[in-house]
Amino acid sequence: MSGVVGIYSAKSNDVSQLIYYGLYALQHRGQVSCGIAVNNNGYIDYYKELGLVHEIFSKDKLERLRGNIGIGHVRYASSNEEQNLINTLPLVAGYKRGALALTLDGTVVNSQSIKDGLEDAGIIFQSSLDGEVVANLIARNHKDNLEEAIIKTLNEIEGSYGLIMMTSDRLIGARDPFGLKPLSIGKLDNDYLLASESCAFDTIGAEFVRDVEPGEIVVINHEGIRTINKNPKKRSLCLFELIYFARPDSLLDGKSIYLSRLEAGRQLARESENYADIVIGAPDSGIVFAIGYAEESKIPYAEGIIKNRYVGRTFIQPSQDLREQGVKIKLNVVKENIKGKRVILVDDSIVRGTTIKRTVDMLKKAGAKEVHVRIASPQVINPCHLGMDTPSKENLIAAKLSTEEIRELIGADSLNYLSIDGLVQSVGGNNGFCKGCFNGEYAIKPFVKKQL
Ligand code: SF4
Repeated sequence: MSGVVGIYSAKSNDVSQLIYYGLYALQHRGQVSCGIAVNNNGYIDYYKELGLVHEIFSKDKLERLRGNIGIGHVRYASSNEEQNLINTLPLVAGYKRGALALTLDGTVVNSQSIKDGLEDAGIIFQSSLDGEVVANLIARNHKDNLEEAIIKTLNEIEGSYGLIMMTSDRLIGARDPFGLKPLSIGKLDNDYLLASESCAFDTIGAEFVRDVEPGEIVVINHEGIRTINKNPKKRSLCLFELIYFARPDSLLDGKSIYLSRLEAGRQLARESENYADIVIGAPDSGIVFAIGYAEESKIPYAEGIIKNRYVGRTFIQPSQDLREQGVKIKLNVVKENIKGKRVILVDDSIVRGTTIKRTVDMLKKAGAKEVHVRIASPQVINPCHLGMDTPSKENLIAAKLSTEEIRELIGADSLNYLSIDGLVQSVGGNNGFCKGCFNGEYAIKPFVKKQL
């Protein structure tokens, strides 16, 4: 998972500041590295480093990055990926027909077979980034017309992606044919922007225009915005975007994340037994679900756990050690609300089980009489090869243990998950979602191999 932003400005030569604030808004999508690339009169300049947006980009660095087209990236590295500067985006590459900067949120599932073919043809790769494979393929396909080369390239790759590219005179955005990953179009005065989530537009005072459609490629230049290709397949937005990844103040495919989560919380209450004194949300991912749950169950909502906001999300820290340390320093119980109470604790999902176990333990130590865990999604029983960091079944507690065994392991007095139908209905009905990690119905089946 990553966050991507791009802007084309007809007037300003100072887009790096806007990219900076856009990336700031998308920091929840990746905390390992960040970078910004700008077009400065045909020359692409960039800066990228490991760390958070506000740590990396000082005023001086942003002032150095002058240009009227820019792209930016915040990156989450998966646990089996090396964290180093080479594996950071945006990727900036020069080739025979020009220069290209590229940033990508997602996973190209056939990147290895394409890479093998390119290496056989003598291409040398520096990183393990799928974006480098895409950039090389574009360079190889670019004969006379860049836009045709991009269309051809995107017909050759398979996967989940929100992709933003920049050349010396245009900004290009593309979304995978299934719409697994989000990508939105915004407008600030007469300038167009692209971003993984609409919250990036709100931060800089831009208006949300629309989502890039699944399989759509848009080009933005001094004449405005136009669609150069549409190649949609069965719409399959990642359900995890709706329940976990995206910020509640974003819109994805026309849906309010906040309202979707509120309704999922209500539905969870309808599907559960409700014997408790208070409902609390696991911070921050369970809060909106808990508000919906409390509304429906008529059990009062209360603040149960306070989060240290200066610690990153535990789930997206890249190693088990770091994840466990992160949980210890980030949460504290409001004992006055919890002591002697029967508590319903609502969270979005259980993946590894580490966080929820510690949270239940904290509540019990703080004097909770009972802790009933309610999860606003079904059991995660399959790994995701499309961008979420669950590479094997061994990491998934629900793939190994029954619900009763998990309840016992996490120390809860009861445990209930939202049904898959309940989740799908809550987030917009059968409009097309990938459900692979819940029931094996992947938008793209695992281990697709395609020979070029
Ligand atoms: S398998 Fe799960 S996490 Fe992966 S894309 Fe599908 S819904 Fe999202």
